[in-house]
Amino acid sequence: MKERVWQRIDELANELWDLSLRIHAHPELGFEEERAVAWIADMLQGAGFVVEKGAGGISTALRAVHPEERPGPGVAVLAEYDALPGLGHACGHNLIAASAVGAALGLASVKRELPGTLVLLGTPAEEGGGGKIRMIEAGLFEGLDAALMVHPASGTVVDRGSLAITRVEIVFHGRAAHASSQPEKGINALDAVIQTFVGLNALRQHIADGARIHGIITDGGQKPNIVPERAAARFYVRAPENEYRDELVEKLRCCAEGAALATGASLSFDRVGDEYKAIRPDPKLVAAFRRQLAELGIPEDEPSGGLGSTDMGDVSWVVSAIHPYIRITEQDTPGHSREFAEAACGEGARRGMIAAAKAMAGVALELWQ
Ligand SMILES: [Zn+2]
Repeated sequence: MKERVWQRIDELANELWDLSLRIHAHPELGFEEERAVAWIADMLQGAGFVVEKGAGGISTALRAVHPEERPGPGVAVLAEYDALPGLGHACGHNLIAASAVGAALGLASVKRELPGTLVLLGTPAEEGGGGKIRMIEAGLFEGLDAALMVHPASGTVVDRGSLAITRVEIVFHGRAAHASSQPEKGINALDAVIQTFVGLNALRQHIADGARIHGIITDGGQKPNIVPERAAARFYVRAPENEYRDELVEKLRCCAEGAALATGASLSFDRVGDEYKAIRPDPKLVAAFRRQLAELGIPEDEPSGGLGSTDMGDVSWVVSAIHPYIRITEQDTPGHSREFAEAACGEGARRGMIAAAKAMAGVALELWQ
């Protein structure tokens, strides 16, 4: 049966590659992926799937269910399709979409003979929008037993973690005054931001390996001759465990409170936007995925570089999940770069997309059989 599914995916290769190139050529930001969703919906409808666009009330979320539903495991393949501002598909989500469609269409060809439910979920806005978190809240992961997706990368790594992330905004309010004639009347909010960075930089020596805290100043005052009355910064706090991430957020808060005390500025400290949990890949799914790679003759690479964050982390706390990486380009090509955007429509990308589709389909077959 697997041979038939893989052969079907080979037959669909041109169509899948065309989908992937179209998404690549028309990058859409998170929650604006209307064209990508329409193209995916068309292909799945054509194969008999029952397709719901705007699933869960999320405009660019998609849920497609194969009509042959039977008792047994519910398996979802996940399609991301959002791009990065200014860089297009520098994270290769066009390939995530096309490989998920490939797995779904390949499996659809034999679904009549299998138990369980086959679902494709189109998951918008991975890049900071938390589309999957919205979809979890909307109940779209209920009733599922496994969620599978594959991310393109510069190395094939099956069992890889991700970092829990919290986004923090700090704003200091001081008092404006002439910076030369009456500086003693002013309270310098920018100094408080700078002191926060200084405190944070001292903290870095004493945080665990793998954690990351990085920030930018988003408001540094208006003019050099005015003592800044408002200043602000944004930080991303990341760690391999959710609890340690929370601990670091509190340490960052202490740095900011210390800066407020030192300067006399008042502080507002907020966790803003979506927080992503650290992923916990399911060991059985990891093993199953490795078996497919071995059958496909695709070697695994040594993990290199640090980790990022993904809303697939949150999915992995509500359903068994995997988020393996498949190589599409030379090792050490950085993600979110122009080189990676280029690679995401190159020959290696096509191979990676087909391999990812076959491997996900193989895992689903194992689950059902
Ligand atoms: Zn990505």
